[in-house]
Amino acid sequence: MNFEFTAEQTQFAAQVRRFAREHLAAGALKRAHDPRFPFDVAQLLAEQGLMGLTLAQSEGGQGGTLMDAVIAIEQVAAECPRSADVVQFGNFGPIRTFAEYGTPAQKARWLGDLLAGRMVMSLGMTEPDAGSAVSDLKTSARAEGTHYIINGNKVFSTFSPEAQIFLVYVRFGPGLGGIGSVLVERDTPGFAIGAPSEFMSGEKWSELHFEECRIPAENVLLGPGGFKKQMAGFNIERLGNAARALACGRHAFNVARDYAAGRKQFGRPLCEFQGLQWKFADMAIKLDSAQLLLYRAAVNADRGLPAAYETAVAKVACNLAGFEVASEAMQIMGAFGYSKETLVEYCMRRTRGWMIAGGSIEMLKNRIAENVFQRRFDQRTRSEKSL
Ligand SMILES: Cc1cc2nc3c(=O)[nH]c(=O)nc-3n(C[C@H](O)[C@H](O)[C@H](O)COP(=O)(O)OP(=O)(O)OC[C@H]3O[C@@H](n4cnc5c(N)ncnc54)[C@H](O)[C@@H]3O)c2cc1C
Repeated sequence: MNFEFTAEQTQFAAQVRRFAREHLAAGALKRAHDPRFPFDVAQLLAEQGLMGLTLAQSEGGQGGTLMDAVIAIEQVAAECPRSADVVQFGNFGPIRTFAEYGTPAQKARWLGDLLAGRMVMSLGMTEPDAGSAVSDLKTSARAEGTHYIINGNKVFSTFSPEAQIFLVYVRFGPGLGGIGSVLVERDTPGFAIGAPSEFMSGEKWSELHFEECRIPAENVLLGPGGFKKQMAGFNIERLGNAARALACGRHAFNVARDYAAGRKQFGRPLCEFQGLQWKFADMAIKLDSAQLLLYRAAVNADRGLPAAYETAVAKVACNLAGFEVASEAMQIMGAFGYSKETLVEYCMRRTRGWMIAGGSIEMLKNRIAENVFQRRFDQRTRSEKSL
């Protein structure tokens, strides 16, 4: 067992950090308060080879590992937390499920633009009555000749105000086995995108409405029975979510550390007060332990899909560490930390959302408990199961 990066990983981390410092650090504060998807950053990252890191070179990717993608998130977020969202989009988001299961024709049509940062994809999974119970989704896909007709509604889809293409979970038939997914282009007749709403993080999302929306059968990504594969692909998204949460927590930690070393009260730097030293010690323990769990899940997955249990443990640990550390960093910086002059308040708001998104802390703990007891705990009531 070795807890050090390899020479290549160390070199890669240093390269990404240098790039982020030179090209992203200066605009970090402004970017954090701009809700629009930063296409300029996406194109810069694409030029640097930081999109599609884990995809095969034959598909326009870099042939790297999940660990490389985690390193990229960490190094970019250290200089510009908002730009780490683009690393997430290009390596962990729905693009990754698309690249894993898309047909050659689907990839030929969209993957190039997505990896070049010219286009963004949004995930339509959650519905008004299907949040944690995602398999309750009602959005339907009905076959009609060479087409499918989509009907239903989705909520909370990140990037939806700007996305050109949507990966939408649909129901082809009853039960878990009836769930799959389709790709829907923005301008498809019968597909309406509602007025943007805003998360606490400042990100925008829109309701997606499908009313007799007709898509060609070639746009089916995973047909009936695809749900398990979708969830397996979603574990990659969860790891990206975990990596960003941790990286935002570390960003806030670093800002607070530098502040505490310089700011004086009662004639002494804040870092000389033991009450604050212990806060930093607790924060360091949280960050380091969550990071080890994140690396375990990423390294064990290598180029494949990460294991559900290791991903769940890593996401819960990183989500909690990221939020708790960002919140404590704010406390240490007093009113300055609470102000929009630094990125600490942004990191706190941002990390809060990931405790809900991508598998809430509670739902992931349910998954972890199943591993502990080596049995499945159905969350449904008896009467619901017998329906
Ligand atoms: C920042 C952000 C980005 C998002 N991006 C997307 C996106 O791009 N695409 C998309 O489709 N969706 C997205 N979502 C939606 C997200 O997937 C859902 O919020 C999530 O699945 C939880 O569903 P819900 O909000 O309806 O909460 P609910 O399912 O109503 O849950 C409410 C609370 O009850 C808890 N709970 C529910 N069931 C159980 C149980 N069995 N045991 C214990 N506790 C339980 C939950 O953990 C939660 O705390 C995003 C959400 C956020 C916050």
